[in-house]
Amino acid sequence: MRFDILTLFPEQINAVLGESIIGRAQKGGIISVYAHDIRDYTANKHRKVDDTPYGGGKGMLMATQPICDCFEAVRKMQGEVKTKVIYMSPRGRVFNHSVAKELAEYDCLTILCGHYEGIDQRVIDEIVDEELSIGDFVLTGGELPACIVVDAVSRLIDGVLADEVCYEDESIASGLLEYPQYTRPAVFRGKEVPEVLLSGHHANIEAWRLERSLELTKERRPDLYKAYIEAHPEKPKKKKKN
Ligand code: SAM
Repeated sequence: MRFDILTLFPEQINAVLGESIIGRAQKGGIISVYAHDIRDYTANKHRKVDDTPYGGGKGMLMATQPICDCFEAVRKMQGEVKTKVIYMSPRGRVFNHSVAKELAEYDCLTILCGHYEGIDQRVIDEIVDEELSIGDFVLTGGELPACIVVDAVSRLIDGVLADEVCYEDESIASGLLEYPQYTRPAVFRGKEVPEVLLSGHHANIEAWRLERSLELTKERRPDLYKAYIEAHPEKPKKKKKN
């Protein structure tokens, strides 16, 4: 899968996505992430990319010309591939696991990052298919939101994680929050690992984990709990996959 990110701060994108699992997925050729510097496309001799908003108001807006020229150059680089164009914005549809699954079906995503007070509406109207928000708060730029989308979508691509079960069994994707997990040592500062986890009895371990997941989800995310119980009217025996 290919991601093209249009940004004023490509180093920020490369620094975040060049590390760890996503960095390895890029090196392994499973995904490609290209960060394009919008400033490289400005026609302004001082490399200016923003201007004051019409009608007054505080702050600066990213102007039309550099973004549209950058976008057109990126579309040429992408060739025939079909892409969805996303603008990271607090006004957008709120991103979550099901949106990530939807986006993972594309071969290519083009993600536009705003900065300052945002971007000229005419750019959004002309090139953007959808605005996406990562939550009800406002950040200084769209770079971190774009990295969050690339990370969450990439984990769903075959080969990015070592084993498919890795994401299907996790919080949210499973329909519940994850049960508590422990590793060695069996006793740490007087606190013991629950005995059942040391028993080697797989059915009991699975039942214990499901009980803990249900408890935690009921307490912290009653909305998820309700949906899970409605989908499992019988006493749930096994976690729902995805
Ligand atoms: N003036 C804009 C508004 O009130 O909707 C906010 C602009 S914000 C300071 C600058 C940029 O950060 C936005 O253009 C967007 O790309 C990004 N951004 C900020 N918060 C975000 C969020 N919750 N989700 C996605 N992108 C966000």
